[in-house]
Amino acid sequence: MPTTAPAPVPTLAGIVGDYVRALEPGHAVWVDGAGRAAAGGARFDVRDPSTGAVIAGVSDGTVADAAAAVDAAAAALPGWSATAPRERGETLRRGFELMREHAAELAALMSWENGKALADSRAEAAYAAEFFRWYAEEAVRTEGEYGPAPAGATRTIVTHRPVGVAALVTPWNFPAAMATRKIAPALAAGCTVVLKPASETPLTALAIARILRTAGVPAGVVNVVPTTSARDVVAAWLADPRVRKLSFTGSTEVGSALLSRAAGRVVNTSMELGGNAPFVVTADADVAAAVRGATVAKFRNGGQACTAANRFYVHADVADAFLERFGATVERLVVGPAVDQTTAIGPLINPRAVDDVRALVEGAVAEGATVTHRAAVPEHTGGSYYPPTVLAGVPATASILTTEIFGPVAPVVTWTDEARLLEHVNAGESGLAAYVYSADLRAAMRLAESIEAGMVGINRGIVSDPAAPFGGLKQSGLGREGGRHGLREFQETQYFSVDWE
Ligand code: NAD
Repeated sequence: MPTTAPAPVPTLAGIVGDYVRALEPGHAVWVDGAGRAAAGGARFDVRDPSTGAVIAGVSDGTVADAAAAVDAAAAALPGWSATAPRERGETLRRGFELMREHAAELAALMSWENGKALADSRAEAAYAAEFFRWYAEEAVRTEGEYGPAPAGATRTIVTHRPVGVAALVTPWNFPAAMATRKIAPALAAGCTVVLKPASETPLTALAIARILRTAGVPAGVVNVVPTTSARDVVAAWLADPRVRKLSFTGSTEVGSALLSRAAGRVVNTSMELGGNAPFVVTADADVAAAVRGATVAKFRNGGQACTAANRFYVHADVADAFLERFGATVERLVVGPAVDQTTAIGPLINPRAVDDVRALVEGAVAEGATVTHRAAVPEHTGGSYYPPTVLAGVPATASILTTEIFGPVAPVVTWTDEARLLEHVNAGESGLAAYVYSADLRAAMRLAESIEAGMVGINRGIVSDPAAPFGGLKQSGLGREGGRHGLREFQETQYFSVDWE
């Protein structure tokens, strides 16, 4: 069979030229449909996690920029919310087409600023674009209700209206998808937005804002404020009476603090927070399929995903077979620079993340676990690499099982008794994703229904889907993103009581 050479990866210079430097002046704060320098003119560095080198200087947004962004979003709100739903949908659809057209550049941009391997970046670019397609179609589906009140003397009309200006705060681990998962439903509902991307990965969000402008989204509807003063900028938004919504994705710690702050003005909130996903393999499971699922669930994005499988509970009957096959797969994973076509796993986001993961693994070993398998990592690159690692013999009480690892480490625990398994699986305050592998679908469903998680993959290692409600139970969050549920997060219900006598 003839092999075709992979398409060349767009260079950072090319991408910056096309998408970001075009935001003159420099890598800018994006307000009212144009780039501008931050008030005060300060900038901050964005680094390539594969080498540690600075790849861009970005305007460091201030509280004054945050206010200017709300000025623009508030001014654009009456026009955008009055735009026909069909037209809002068609504009989003053009956003989808443009994102798809520029997927290769967006993917490379994510690999440069986030360090995720190109295959992961390409998958994210496609996934992120799908939110525009899904909500382009959903923009026209705001149904209402009409009917007689029980006493008959009035008629009741129920409708849904845009919540207003929405503040969006996103993490670095999915720089495109976490932004589009919020922007798309907000715009479909008729809201305007101010977005604060993570300071590690502001370039992708700026590129998306520019793409949306090209797609015909009016000036002021989408505003982006990159900043190193996250706390002050978000506090300013939460104190601004024109901001009626906070949609946050990030750690439970920061989400909880923002909920307290939002309570002061009773701001409508959606929270997508941390996870600690269990991955359960039953005695009758297809081990090869379970290993394929485990590899995706654990190592996508180098383990830096809120849905990442964090703890593997494998039935004792198949534990040896699972460990052997999984370990061999892990040892073969190619770790390297994100934009290298042969890389399967890139670096972690920064050296601090490597220190955190290393400390967790050392702690697990001190508690009795053994490192059974490990991949190799490149040395002397300046990049923040940690080797994909499998831990076996992990005591069920080890702290690595109760902490979100956020790195490429798979602790494996064996189980025999289902009731005790569920006790362990459901312990703690996280409840985002879970995975179950079993040959018996009914048994798998029974287990899945007993697991306290907002999303359960059954014989699948990935649960994210723009058409499905993404979100967590317990301290993993409030509200849902994706599907028709995601639109409701950006709408308020209003009802009219009409005299009928
Ligand atoms: P983080 O909470 O540190 O940061 C998230 C965002 O909040 C960033 O934009 C950051 O700049 C901002 N921020 C930080 N401190 C703030 C403050 N005091 N006030 C206002 N904003 C502040 O999280 P992270 O390290 O960027 O991301 C990793 C976390 O996100 C993990 O816990 C992961 O599970 C979670 N996450 C959850 C989902 C989900 O959908 N549930 C998706 C992706 C990531």
